[in-house]
Amino acid sequence: MPESFQNFIAGAWVDSVSGRTFENRNPARADDLVGLFPRSVPEDVDRAVRSAQRGFDVWRRTPAPARGDVLRKAGDLMTARKDEIARAATREMGKVVAETRGDVQEGIDTAYYAATECRRLFGHTVPSELPDKWAMTYRRPIGVCGMITPFNFPMAIPTWKIFPALACGNAVVFKPAEDVPHTGALFVEILLDAGLPPEVIQLVHGYGEEVGQHLVEHPEVPVISFTGSTETGRRIGEICGRMHKRLSLEMGGKNAQIVLPDADMELALEGVLWGAFGTTGQRCTATSRLLLHEDVQEEFLTELVRRAQALRLGDGLLDGTDVGPLINAAALEKVETYAGVAAAEADVVLGGRRARGPELEGGFFFEPTVAQAVLPGSRLALEEVFGPLLSVITFREFDDAIRINNEVRYGLSSSVYTTDVRVAFRAMSELDTGITYVNAPTIGAEAHLPFGGVKETGNGHREGGWEVYEFYSETKVCYVDYSGRLQRAQIDNYD
Ligand code: NAD
Repeated sequence: MPESFQNFIAGAWVDSVSGRTFENRNPARADDLVGLFPRSVPEDVDRAVRSAQRGFDVWRRTPAPARGDVLRKAGDLMTARKDEIARAATREMGKVVAETRGDVQEGIDTAYYAATECRRLFGHTVPSELPDKWAMTYRRPIGVCGMITPFNFPMAIPTWKIFPALACGNAVVFKPAEDVPHTGALFVEILLDAGLPPEVIQLVHGYGEEVGQHLVEHPEVPVISFTGSTETGRRIGEICGRMHKRLSLEMGGKNAQIVLPDADMELALEGVLWGAFGTTGQRCTATSRLLLHEDVQEEFLTELVRRAQALRLGDGLLDGTDVGPLINAAALEKVETYAGVAAAEADVVLGGRRARGPELEGGFFFEPTVAQAVLPGSRLALEEVFGPLLSVITFREFDDAIRINNEVRYGLSSSVYTTDVRVAFRAMSELDTGITYVNAPTIGAEAHLPFGGVKETGNGHREGGWEVYEFYSETKVCYVDYSGRLQRAQIDNYD
């Protein structure tokens, strides 16, 4: 019998009122059924929101440092269970276990950062323009936050949202991606074991259109934080705009690594291999484009192809695997479609096919693929693939590299390899992305810095670091007049 999992609603582990379930399978081995999860319906969301409102009432009155104690304990529990969670995440998500360990570590870092932030959550005191009057701000929690997360960072991304929201005193309804529900359940288990009052967190499993959208549309959920595709984010943005909700969107990317002729080529090669094929290319920050200076193009590409060919595909739980499977059959088909586009538009010098082999038959494996002679402005140069397909574009002038980098609709991450400090600073200032790496790949965000993108990648907010606390709290301004008389600002003190 497969293991059955439940929602966590109103302080109890429960089935969906629908009585239905969906299967969660290992993308490396389709015959490995991780478990059955509740296929929730709007009524489950409604119950979760009502309960979260009660949880909010308790939690917002809990002193912030006491909230921080719970978050610190959650970090301790995640540390103790790091390997177990990483293995569970790899089993349902596919990436190699060294990466899911990093995913869990990012959650641990976020827990400890949030715990200490609970002793800050600074406001300001500001001089008033009137005598015997004080002016100050403080940060108030907002209410029930709906968290909708993608499959590719099953632990880190939920923690980026949920820890800061809890630190600020909000309650949470969490809808994890349907491909990685088990890691979501483990996270909620940890929060409860850490002492979070049960109604402060609600877990509702299920499909985006069936429950995610209802959560977004729920009038008693004033805050929505979404990470996922730009298409889904746009739909969510339209609803939240109409309903006057606070919304954070983190969406797609089409990130480029630029290599100048003066770069340390070994470093640049390691960077692009990791950036393009790590997480099987399924990172929002994955290196999807390599912008190569034409002077180094031939030599660099030859070596890149040699190294990419040597990457070992397989089950992420096995030692020696470099690249795991794609998340599901739809993702495999999408990457295959883009390999077709590559064959038509460019020159495929490596891969381009589903990966075959006795160990790979039951999984969604695609060969690491490199397409060269990709033209700026072509589909391959502009569209997010979200798989192990690297598009190589050559350039002559650095200005061209900047222009090519900036002509996509996304703006998450960029990277430049150079030893010229002037070029490095020009890149940092000119590249239209939320993050730029110098002499490092397009991936590698750290939990204590803001994370997010510009243009169609985001909507102006950031996750991580200190900035996210602004999103999950409302600034309140208080004036205290102890003059004992009516003082009219701007009127009594100026002619
Ligand atoms: P997705 O948009 O398909 O799904 C993300 C989440 O949204 C899932 O939980 C899904 O169930 C839910 N959802 C789907 N339709 C919905 C709807 N109509 N209403 C409400 N919720 C809905 O994305 P995915 O395939 O899981 O993730 C891949 C995408 O996420 C890529 O585009 C990637 O670039 C992006 N991503 C961005 C970041 C970032 O920080 N910028 C990080 C990771 C992934």
